Amino acid sequence: MSHRFRQTLLALTLASAGMMSVSLACAAPVPAQQQTQVPGYYRMMLGNMEVTALYDGYVNLDTKLFHGISEPDMQKLLARMFTDSKSGIQTAVNAFLVNTGSHLVLVDAGTAQCFGPTLGAIKNNLRAAGYQPEQVDTILLTHLHPDHACGITDQGKAAFPNATVYASKADGDYWLNKEIALKAPQDAQPMFKLAQDAVAPYAEQGKLKLYRPGDRLLPDLDVIATPGHTPGHTSYLFSSGGQKLLLWGDIVHSHSLQFAKPDVAVDFDTDSKQAIATRQKVFADAAENKLWIGGAHLPFPGLSHMRVEGNGYAWVPIEYAAVAGQKKP
Ligand SMILES: [Zn+2]
Repeated sequence: MSHRFRQTLLALTLASAGMMSVSLACAAPVPAQQQTQVPGYYRMMLGNMEVTALYDGYVNLDTKLFHGISEPDMQKLLARMFTDSKSGIQTAVNAFLVNTGSHLVLVDAGTAQCFGPTLGAIKNNLRAAGYQPEQVDTILLTHLHPDHACGITDQGKAAFPNATVYASKADGDYWLNKEIALKAPQDAQPMFKLAQDAVAPYAEQGKLKLYRPGDRLLPDLDVIATPGHTPGHTSYLFSSGGQKLLLWGDIVHSHSLQFAKPDVAVDFDTDSKQAIATRQKVFADAAENKLWIGGAHLPFPGLSHMRVEGNGYAWVPIEYAAVAGQKKP
């Protein structure tokens, strides 16, 4: 093909593309932008278990809430993940619905109306995912903070009317204790009130169960004490078909900072020293055993792996995939 011929071909192609766009513009006006996001659920299979990540929304956390890292180091890590922290670090709030085949289990329940308009979508996304709140029979709370527990209750009534709620006794003894609440600093008191209000409709019906370390709650589920963020913070390890998924709650609040530097702590920790030690232990275990992890505050859908990298760890988010055997939309 001669140079002149290639140039002529290119000119013709551009001209026809230009003509086409003019004729398309004449044929129909450009539709209005949709300005909505896709439904906030994502599905994966874990052996025979179906896991659905549910998106509650997001909150922007002030960089001042993170400790144990210099400002330049923090900005370097945030920039490395293309995170713009000018209006705070975007932090997702996720919950997970596990259909084990014999139980429909919700792990954490988001914020409901306890926080701002960017949050509170768990129930809508659960419905979008093909389930109804009445079908949930078991709720496992990683801890009793309001961004995990508020969602179990709607205007004072059980949002999941057929569910029994499980939380660790250590967290119950702390957040549901009126005397500890009274002695807490003024700015911490709403945390106690929100936890107590969230569990109240279930407690009244005898459907709040506080379990002890080592208690068995469901088949193929290990309950793992991961204290520090709260006194009874707990992670849930589901196993099926040789695969394991650790739904770890609040082990990480910033993927940009804490995988690289696990000793970065967040203000919300009840005992930050213990929280750091727990994070180190959970990270080492998850990386060594190549566990699936599901984080309440990892970027949605929060399902990931992790591996050792340098002195810290690297976060490896799930790759979007169809569910094996799924019906065509
Ligand atoms: Zn949280």
